[in-house]
Amino acid sequence: MMPNTAAIPKQIFDIITQVINGTEKSIALHQPLFKGNEWNYTKECIDTGWVSSVGKFVDRFEQMLVELTGAKFVVATVNGTSALHLTFLLANIKPNDEVLTPALTFIGTTNPITYCQAIPHFIDSDPETLGINLKSLEDYLKEDTVIKNGTCINKYTNRHIKALSVMHTFGHPADLDALLDLANRYHLILIEDAAEALGSYYKNIHVGHHGYAGILSFNGNKIATTGGGGAILTNDPTVAKRAKHLSTTAKLPHPWLFMHDQIGFNYRLPNINAALGCAQLEQLPGFLKAKRALAKAYQAAFKNLYYITFVDEPAHAKSNFWLNTIILDESAAKYRDNILEFTNTNGIMTRPAWNLQHTLPMYQSAPKMPLTHAEKLAKQIINLPSSVELGKPYV
Ligand SMILES: *Cc1c(COP(=O)(O)O)cnc(C)c1O
Repeated sequence: MMPNTAAIPKQIFDIITQVINGTEKSIALHQPLFKGNEWNYTKECIDTGWVSSVGKFVDRFEQMLVELTGAKFVVATVNGTSALHLTFLLANIKPNDEVLTPALTFIGTTNPITYCQAIPHFIDSDPETLGINLKSLEDYLKEDTVIKNGTCINKYTNRHIKALSVMHTFGHPADLDALLDLANRYHLILIEDAAEALGSYYKNIHVGHHGYAGILSFNGNKIATTGGGGAILTNDPTVAKRAKHLSTTAKLPHPWLFMHDQIGFNYRLPNINAALGCAQLEQLPGFLKAKRALAKAYQAAFKNLYYITFVDEPAHAKSNFWLNTIILDESAAKYRDNILEFTNTNGIMTRPAWNLQHTLPMYQSAPKMPLTHAEKLAKQIINLPSSVELGKPYV
């Protein structure tokens, strides 16, 4: 029997409070934790004057990310959005090219495509991993595209579909092997938006460098933060070299001359932000343990609530469990707003999924495949409080 309208929000609220050990103060969706060398390292930047675009912490931050992710090269940037913008430029995404990209994602996945004057082409989600729906994408490509001279052409717009952007939703790795195989068959450049997925692994390899290149974000709400920050991951030395050059105003190295050989960007991560990042990365193993413990506690607590599915890591993957997510079944989905209202009013921050990209005013006329699952999921998803510090006793 379905509990009544008033009972459902309370039932969910009680389970969340039980998992996070109830408290009087309000609980954020995701807040950063600074318990390591954050103060020491940022103070060092201020004491020495090295706060800006050059300094030892930027290099150290990149090196730490190389070791952590296994990517051969890492280039730090001012945020994840700029990292993705550079990645699309480097992948030679040109005006009027189309880029296949999820409808169910944050705006930071979509806008960088438009910055290149290319066109986002929205694709459907997998109801279990919340990533790309492989089967429907494959059927769609078979039906709606033709391969001409080794390029994938949209039959209806006649435009070149050049790339596939894969987002690892809430930190859960998409099925990269299958997506890479599909991308190869359709001559698509695979780019990973791994903004949410620092510490997530697909078949024991860290996400973000399985395709052409990928990006991370270190925004304040991500698992580790630099205040604002991002990074490009790649195994290709040429891509890495060009990424660094473009992110530093395309200035040629010289002790005193200002010579720039193309239109570059001021996208380099400042040293003071990198200092914060180094301190955060030192604590990442503990953060990941805490997140996993919290996720497992939610999962156990929600197990007997038949109208809820807790989103677990996919098989063959290890997730960072960045944002814990429940999916309401169809009978409970109509109470979604009551649940959001009740929990937020009572001091527990919860959130619905993002508004689907094709429903936003600037993207309503963009090409898209049938978005059946994404449209359903958008009404069923609720994100739960997921801060590292809730995963005691690991931090
Ligand atoms: C956070 C995020 C970004 C961009 O990150 P910023 O660092 O805020 O620019 C991009 N894509 C996704 C999916 C994100 O969650």
